[in-house]
Amino acid sequence: MFQASPWRTDFPAIAALARQQQTYLDNAATTQKPQALIDALGHYYSHGAANVHRAQHLPGALATQAFEACREKVAGWLNAPSPNQILFSHGATSALNLLAYGLEPLFQAGDQLAISALEHHANLLPWQQLAKRRGLELVVLPITAAGVVDLDQARELIGPRTRLLAVSQLSNVFGTEQPLPALLALARAQGALTVVDGAQGVVHGRHDVQALGCDFYVFSGHKLYGPEGVGVIYGRGEALGQLSHWQFGGEMVHQASYHSANFHPAPLGFEAGTPPIGAVLGLGATLDYLGGLAADAVAAHESALHAQLLRGLRDREGVVLLGEPQRALASFNVQGVHPADLAHLLSEQGVAVRAGHHCAMPLMNHLGQPGAIRVSLALYNDSSDLQRLFEALDGALALLR
Ligand code: PMP
Repeated sequence: MFQASPWRTDFPAIAALARQQQTYLDNAATTQKPQALIDALGHYYSHGAANVHRAQHLPGALATQAFEACREKVAGWLNAPSPNQILFSHGATSALNLLAYGLEPLFQAGDQLAISALEHHANLLPWQQLAKRRGLELVVLPITAAGVVDLDQARELIGPRTRLLAVSQLSNVFGTEQPLPALLALARAQGALTVVDGAQGVVHGRHDVQALGCDFYVFSGHKLYGPEGVGVIYGRGEALGQLSHWQFGGEMVHQASYHSANFHPAPLGFEAGTPPIGAVLGLGATLDYLGGLAADAVAAHESALHAQLLRGLRDREGVVLLGEPQRALASFNVQGVHPADLAHLLSEQGVAVRAGHHCAMPLMNHLGQPGAIRVSLALYNDSSDLQRLFEALDGALALLR
C-alpha cells in the first residue's frame, strides 16, 4: 500500500531535491527543515539580532526572552522538571564532551566507566579519552546478534566499580532500541551516573526524561528537523550539581578577578561564550511545529514505512541486514558486493543513502564488516522514496553481480 506523508510539503527542500532528481534517505545523518524553522531564522535575522544575557537594550532583552522561551520549550518537550535543567551545547558531540570533562573530577583511578559495543564515536571517544586521562577502566558491554546490549552480560559487568554508564537510546547503525530501563536500573543500583545519548532516539516518538530516570540525556538539534550548531543536555537536579564547569569565558562567570573567579550554576554556568542564539530560536520553532503534529499519526507513518523498507530489503537476494532493525533505519550489505561500490551506484541514480562505518568503527570491526549501507527515514519520506531506492538498488546490483 502506498504510504503517503501528509507532512511532506512542510519541508520545502524535499521538492527542491526532487527537482534535482534526488531522493533523500540519509536522515540519521541530518534532516531537512520545516518551513516553520526557515521562517523563524529569517524573522530573527531580519528583525534585529542581539546577544543574550548581556545587554540592557531592547533588542538584547527581546533576544534573551525568546532564547529563554526556547529553553522552556525544550524542557517541555522532554518533560524536564525545570528549564534550568536544560543546557544548550553545540550538538550531541559537544554535549558528551562537556559531560566527560565536567564529570571528570568525580572519578578516581580504578573506577569503571561502562559503554556499549554499539556506541557512536561521540559516545565512545569522550569516555575513552577520559579513562586514559584519569586511569579509569572502560568497560564495553557486549551486544546480541540482534543489535541490542546483552542484558545478561551487562548484569555481570556492571558492578560496584562502575561509576558511570553511557549508552545510546536508538542505535544509529542497527536501528534498535536499547533496553534502557533495565540498563539504567543496573547502573543506579550501583550508585553510578547514567548518560543517555538520545541523538537518534529523540527523533522518533516523545521521550520523558523523568520517566526514563537517567541523570543526563543529550541530543542534537539538526537530527530533530532543527538547525545545526545547537545541542541539548538535560541533567537531573542532583547530577547537574555534581558537574564541574568546563569551558570558561563570557557570561558563565559570576565574579572574576585577575587571579580567581566563580561561576553561575546551571544552565548559564555551562554555556560559555555567545551561545548559538539563532539555532536555539530555530530549534524552538521546530519544536512548536513538531508539537502541532498528531504524534500517533507520525508514529504510525514511520512504522509503516519502516516495515516497507525492511520487506523490500529482505525480499532481495543476497541482502544481509545488520541486526534486527526496529525503527527509523536499516543498515545492510549485499553478499559479494562492496558497500562503497553500491553506494556509488545509488548516488549516481540520485538516491542519497550513507555508506561507511557510520562513526562506529569498533562496531564495524566487531561485526567483521568493511562498512554498510544505511537507509534512514524521516516523517516526510513516503513510499515513492522507497520505490526509487529499490529501483536504484536493483539497477546497481544488476551491474555489480
Ligand atoms: N550519537 C549518535 C547515536 C549519533 O547518531 C550521532 C550523529 N550521527 C551523534 C551521537 C553525534 O551527533 P552530532 O554529530 O550532531 O554531534
